[in-house]
Amino acid sequence: MDREAVAAQLQEFGQPAYRMDQIVRAQRAGASSWDEVTTLGKGLRADLADRGPLWSVEPRERLVSTDGTVKWRLGLADGREIESVLISHARGRRTLCVSSQVGCALGCTFCSTGTMGFGRDLTAWEIVEQALIAAQEADAQRARLSNVVFMGMGEPMQNLPAVLAAVDELHGPAPGLGISARQIAISTVGWVPGIAELQEYPLPVRLAVSLHAADDETRTRLMPINQRYPIASLLAACRRYCDTTGRRVFIEYVLLDGVNDSLEDARRLARILRDGRFHVNLIEYNATGGEYAASRPDRRERFLLALERAGLEASVRRSRGADVAAACGQLVTQAAAQPA
Ligand code: SAH
Ligand code: SF4
Repeated sequence: MDREAVAAQLQEFGQPAYRMDQIVRAQRAGASSWDEVTTLGKGLRADLADRGPLWSVEPRERLVSTDGTVKWRLGLADGREIESVLISHARGRRTLCVSSQVGCALGCTFCSTGTMGFGRDLTAWEIVEQALIAAQEADAQRARLSNVVFMGMGEPMQNLPAVLAAVDELHGPAPGLGISARQIAISTVGWVPGIAELQEYPLPVRLAVSLHAADDETRTRLMPINQRYPIASLLAACRRYCDTTGRRVFIEYVLLDGVNDSLEDARRLARILRDGRFHVNLIEYNATGGEYAASRPDRRERFLLALERAGLEASVRRSRGADVAAACGQLVTQAAAQPA
């Protein structure tokens, strides 16, 4: 059940607010049904069970990649489905890639989620439960859920109130997950009003902007949203964000063979980012069955070198989990657009 619904039920039953903490603690510890929330009395458990299931998100499938990446297909109460992905790092750290919407309305031409169309926004609690499930998995691996990135399905800036309410929970002390705000990243297609809104948010979360091209013609071809918010307006919003918050912005740039990976593209990118506080993450393209192919390693290295020579901070982000279609841009579910 969604958290608001549980809160309303508790109130109706005349229960104190701390019951909610008990419920979340039980979910965090792995309770799968109301019956297992043994900190609540039997009668209350039965009353709550009459109203709906304990979880609003339910694992339907769990796939493990050869590199240790875990991908879940998760069912929602209305029959729709989302995915989330847990990525392993050294020293027992784990990064969870969460979904913020069912599908996505923005139709970027290189992204599987974009081909699904838009289903609906997730609630804050549906986002938090993805992290509760991942935290249990990390426990089982004797590891720690240290980072959360909003890089799963959906455009987080189009569902910002729920996303930020979820961040509050993820960051908060127990029964929250105690994740440092700096280890939480919100990735956006370049939704300018969302960037302005995020700069007012008090926690120092990371902002990642999916740029993927240094000229408007190429970017519009890749990302239709560029017609509404072209590169100049997007970078102006990023600079305002840097000035207001004192933080850097992370620029995501997926390298596509022959599309945006020439030396001229690298130089143009360096030029437009020159006077800002940016860090460029070059991303390997993950096949989605469309018209694109990943840049060859030599072109990728040349691109990186050109950025560095121009004085930009840049790094390459390696693809993970591609063998179970868990990598960036590969998240797609069948039951997306319509409820079952
Ligand atoms: N909607 C948000 C967040 C979800 S997508 C956004 O677009 O930023 C997370 C990241 O994966 C984005 O940088 C997106 O551009 C990238 N991505 C999408 N499809 C990809 C693909 N096929 N290969 C590599 N990265 C991809
Ligand atoms: Fe949506 Fe992001 Fe995919 Fe674009 S890249 S379609 S904004 S999820």
